Amino acid sequence: MAHTSYIGRFAPSPSGPLHFGSLVTAVGSFLQARHSYGRWLVRIEDIDPPREVPGASDMILKQLTDFGLYWDDEVIYQSQHLSRYQSQIDAWLATGDAYYCQCTRKQIQSRDGGIYDGHCRHLALEKAPGRAIRLHCTKPATGFTDQLRGWQPLKSELAHEDLVIFRRDGLYAYNLAVVLDDIDAKVSEVVRGSDLLEPTARQCNLYRMLNHDEPDYLHLPLACDSSGHKLSKQNHAPALSQEHILKQLQDALAFLGHEVPNSWAQLPPQKLLANMAQVWDKRNIPTHLDI
Ligand code: GLU
Ligand code: ZN
Repeated sequence: MAHTSYIGRFAPSPSGPLHFGSLVTAVGSFLQARHSYGRWLVRIEDIDPPREVPGASDMILKQLTDFGLYWDDEVIYQSQHLSRYQSQIDAWLATGDAYYCQCTRKQIQSRDGGIYDGHCRHLALEKAPGRAIRLHCTKPATGFTDQLRGWQPLKSELAHEDLVIFRRDGLYAYNLAVVLDDIDAKVSEVVRGSDLLEPTARQCNLYRMLNHDEPDYLHLPLACDSSGHKLSKQNHAPALSQEHILKQLQDALAFLGHEVPNSWAQLPPQKLLANMAQVWDKRNIPTHLDI
């Protein structure tokens, strides 16, 4: 039952089943929402078909419920929002804020040193296969406040870079989809892994171009393997086990600075999480970027 306007979300990409790192993110965003008596949404970010693994979406949802992570409302699928993304792009094309860009990554590297300099902004290029669409960000953000780490300044050359909102390979850009979906779902706080600290500042530019306040941001530390690499689907981090649910949940909570009291250790996951929501305190979350 929601008593506040807090709305949080967990936004996995269906590029594989959840691993320990994604469990940490799910648990952290869930408890932030429940502690605030807010709502917690799940959004499947399925707009990158080449990276999608068949069956992963359903697997992720099953894993969430196994771990007692029950969401509010219907699951949101980004693949159902393509016309929403397109109409925003069309609106920006119409006002001249967005433009087609034919530059390759290689050209941007050798010509501009890697930070796009607006080369195609005034070329009035037409739509064509292999062309991206960029947004001229005229109100660049200087940074944003992270709820754990405080002010995060943005490198000024990045702040002024015209953002890709539609990719050369014909897919909608992650930054655009995330921002529009968070706005549409009235997300008040974004809790996610600190691997996404960098795109956050760019997303702030999109909020500005949309004349919309940005949500609060809280970036969680990243779980790493023993050799210091971030656990990720790309690095083939092992999927969560379907056994030892409680142990993995306790490990995720401990990672987030919350030890489970002995008397709660045998509770079913959903009940354990409900109790943990009462004692949850974001100030206990470690602030280093990875562990
Ligand atoms: N879908 C993104 C991911 O898997 C997360 C997006 C977000 O939380 O903003 O890593
Ligand atoms: Zn260009």
